[in-house]
Amino acid sequence: MGIRVGIDLGTTFSAIAKIDTVSGKPEIIKNSFGSAVTPSVLCFQEDGTILFGEDAKNMQAAGDTNTIAFFKRSMGKEQFSIDFFGNSYSATDLSAIFLEKLKEEAESQIHEPIDAAVITVPAYFSHKEREATIEAGRKAGMEVIATINEPTAAAFAYGLKRTGTEQKILIYDLGGGTFDATIAQISDKEICVLGSDGDHELGGKDWDDCLARYLATQFFETYGQDLTEDPEIAASLLVTAESVKKQLSAKTRVTVPLAYKGVRGAIEITEETFESISEFLMGTTKDVTNRLLGSLEMTWNDIDGVILVGGSTRMPMVRKYVETMSGKKTLGGVNVDEAVALGAAIRANITEKGEALLNIGGKKGKEQELNTGLSIQGAKAVMDVTAHSLGMISESEDREHYINKIIIPKNTRIPAQNTVPFAFRTRAAGNELEIYVLQGEFEEPMENTVIHKYVVKDIEKVDGGRSIIEVTYAYSANGIIEVSAVQKETGNVLPIQIEPVPEDMSWVQHSPKENMENGDVQPAKILLAVDLSGSMYGDPIEKAMEAMENFMDQMETNGAMVGIIAFADWTELVLEPTDDYRLVHEKIQELPRIDVGGGNNAEPFTLAYDTLRASEIYESQYMVVLTDGQWYNTTVAIQEAKKCHAAGIEVMALGFGHADYNFLKEVASIEEFAEMTDLKGLSGSFSKIAQVIGEGTGNLKIR
Ligand code: AMP
Repeated sequence: MGIRVGIDLGTTFSAIAKIDTVSGKPEIIKNSFGSAVTPSVLCFQEDGTILFGEDAKNMQAAGDTNTIAFFKRSMGKEQFSIDFFGNSYSATDLSAIFLEKLKEEAESQIHEPIDAAVITVPAYFSHKEREATIEAGRKAGMEVIATINEPTAAAFAYGLKRTGTEQKILIYDLGGGTFDATIAQISDKEICVLGSDGDHELGGKDWDDCLARYLATQFFETYGQDLTEDPEIAASLLVTAESVKKQLSAKTRVTVPLAYKGVRGAIEITEETFESISEFLMGTTKDVTNRLLGSLEMTWNDIDGVILVGGSTRMPMVRKYVETMSGKKTLGGVNVDEAVALGAAIRANITEKGEALLNIGGKKGKEQELNTGLSIQGAKAVMDVTAHSLGMISESEDREHYINKIIIPKNTRIPAQNTVPFAFRTRAAGNELEIYVLQGEFEEPMENTVIHKYVVKDIEKVDGGRSIIEVTYAYSANGIIEVSAVQKETGNVLPIQIEPVPEDMSWVQHSPKENMENGDVQPAKILLAVDLSGSMYGDPIEKAMEAMENFMDQMETNGAMVGIIAFADWTELVLEPTDDYRLVHEKIQELPRIDVGGGNNAEPFTLAYDTLRASEIYESQYMVVLTDGQWYNTTVAIQEAKKCHAAGIEVMALGFGHADYNFLKEVASIEEFAEMTDLKGLSGSFSKIAQVIGEGTGNLKIR
């Protein structure tokens, strides 16, 4: 049986670590060059061999074009592919090859097989990037126990010493291209991540740019030549700048020889100058950290210490700046390049609750039986949070645009789960619901990443047409997202199909209303059926008209089509459903002058059925019946109402005065759609109906 390791799969360098079974301490497995870190580089050769690490980096430096680095940046990107000698590789393939080599080399160093690993990922990594990392680990022949966030892994490594107290620690992670700030509460028993925030376009690269700009300006001012006008020279200036930057981490002054168009010169830069020209970048890390503190309702006073992680924290200015901004000493004792792998090794050998999975100091270190309470140093339970919000594309309330409706907010403790109900109008067949899962905080859907398209199938047609689909998002401790759906009325767990996210998502740029007009979603059709028997005359009809006018105001934002039926002794279609709202208002005002007799002999359902059915099939059809008395022939009315229900016409019955509540419940599609009110409450009741109709037609994109 093999051992479990921790792997820091880095953009530029990677590291692998295990637990020493005698001391219980995590330790780096050095590579064959005796180095703790291995360059994340591969070199493909014509004879089929693949070099990695130092060897590949040397080939790259020698100008071999069959080398590849920085593949971590393309993890999870479907469009990324690169060819070497007739074979094409995705970023996952490249990571898998690299991980397999890293594993094999480590195995030959420690003379033990490696079975499983915890692989670290940046906190900002999306769902797809995490899945791609797990896939790469599996392809490399390892069980991937979990992926954990790099700052969390670092917190493990720094939490080796048992302090007996609970501390809130800021993990300040400044790498080559990204910055992440994480706040974790660390006790002897657990690491509880409270939240993280970051700027993923800020890192060592920006300091290089800043330094290159300075060198170019100085060279121009002193020697009159512009190094930036030639792209090749500008590119090599960036390489020089990175090297100067690293030198400035070790000494206070560097002289940089530069030459262009036959002009040779030297520019001197001091640590002090470097600090002052790049101070604004440090300021950005402060803004991000303050934003994180603010979102957690904390101040600097709540922070007990700061851990520095990432290659760029080797710049002396970072330590100085962080100590000044926090008023705290940064915690030391762990090598910034090794911390993440060491932490991952601890996590790989404990359960989620922090119990050791390894015998320490036993007769045979290889024993793997679950053995709780033993001393892997730094073993703790870990509780992490979601790095991004998870949402779905839905319609804004006014249906003017699509929005990102957040289901699981950023920085929610994981595992996390949330269920939201969505109204869905069912038809006789072909009921499917499309869910576009978004990752990100922006309200505008396409500013986030669309990580999946799910299609919920087999939604059954329900009486009344309107069904509630309960959609659940679950985020596992491993960073994996699962979506499930249940139809409330039937209790059925609905089958869900994952489909590729379409390349053309331009429909999101249109308003839901426009898409509706393009035939995507049809507007609701509503018939208002008003009882005009004698008892309605005077105050009741005035109040009913007022309530209908208010109702119309709400309906207009929905793009619904509204028609009117009058009934008493006979029925009349006062207005075919229309979205000419001016006409609807006019007809409402004409109601008192319409003659349909004075008694209660008629019922409006037959006419409603014929009116709505005569037209093409609409997504949602509603009938709102308003009455103040008892009808003569209730049997026929109920029978005709049921015909409407079966045809998917949603019937809502609103009564007042002498209306019979039990009768209203019979004619309404569902009991909740029957309501008794009084003249004062009419407007409120209509308003509620408008809301129900709004929900039934909106919210989720339904095709
Ligand atoms: P990481 O992504 O954590 O490996 O960090 C890589 C970044 O750290 C790159 O921008 C490097 O230029 C930077 N870096 C590495 N070593 C040093 C150093 N000694 N001084 C300043 N920056 C460094």
